[in-house]
Amino acid sequence: MIATTNETKLFGILGTPIKHTLSPAMHSYMAEKYHVDMAYIAFDVSGENLKKAIDGVKAIGAKGFNITAPHKIAIMDCIDVINSEATYMGSVNTVVNKDGIWHGYNTDGDGYCHSLTLEGFEISDKKVLVMGAGGAARSVCYKLAENGAESITVATGSDEKKRVIGDMLEKNTKALFCDSFDRTKLYDLIINTTPAGMHPLENENPCRFMDCINKNTVCSDLIYNPIKTVFLKEASARGAKIHNGLGMLICQGILAFELFTGEKTDKKKTYEELINLFNYYRI
Ligand code: NAP
Repeated sequence: MIATTNETKLFGILGTPIKHTLSPAMHSYMAEKYHVDMAYIAFDVSGENLKKAIDGVKAIGAKGFNITAPHKIAIMDCIDVINSEATYMGSVNTVVNKDGIWHGYNTDGDGYCHSLTLEGFEISDKKVLVMGAGGAARSVCYKLAENGAESITVATGSDEKKRVIGDMLEKNTKALFCDSFDRTKLYDLIINTTPAGMHPLENENPCRFMDCINKNTVCSDLIYNPIKTVFLKEASARGAKIHNGLGMLICQGILAFELFTGEKTDKKKTYEELINLFNYYRI
């Protein structure tokens, strides 16, 4: 526990529900490790109170904050500058106060890609199949494309949401966008970005293509609670390599910490230490 001083900088996370967030533990750990005089607190804020909460955060001179569900889109109307990536992704998860100007970023997609590479999975030239087309899918697809994925196929019920991702990829990246699953294609990486597999849907597997999964497939789930979703368990039984959402959570936090503090972290070491901190989640 870091003692606060008259110089302590205030950071936090705003969302609802927020009771189970791991962010305060993560940021407090990094503050101690990198000797930063900061406090990081979780605030349960409803949609109705978001604007008031942000006005309060600004008025008391906080230095930055993370934003989680369900406010990652609404926050965009409450800040001054949004960087180009967060604009393409259409959501913000990190806000930094730079001399009174509030800057928005999105570290989710970058965090996801860092977690894959830190776990030894390649992104470059890979054929990726993404299940779901919500906010997290947009961030993940954008960053996978930027990191050299060869093609990105989005499988979801909503043609409109799929098109939004297609437009984003086609306008801003070199990856090939495919709007429907192709049984003849061998996908290298299959990612669940839907809430299927997480409470109260913990018995649901969103993947309709389990027969296409083999020992050469990497199956990844953005969910980290449970740490092994039904999708990951069934993929593992087919010999696939699996990757869960805890690494994404940790890496988006490390990247947010760097934006907040200007510190250059040792990502690999910090990642390993934070994985150990949450080792009860280990697969
Ligand atoms: P979202 O914007 O609500 O998008 C969810 C997507 O999943 C939509 O395309 C939705 O389709 C689809 N979907 C919803 N229920 C489904 C079901 N039962 N079966 C199949 N598809 C379903 O949510 P999000 O913010 O992208 O978050 C998605 C998941 O990622 C959540 O589980 C969240 O916890 C996780 N996440 C993890 C991290 C991390 O750090 N590990 C970070 C962000 C998000 P429709 O719109 O057509 O219903």
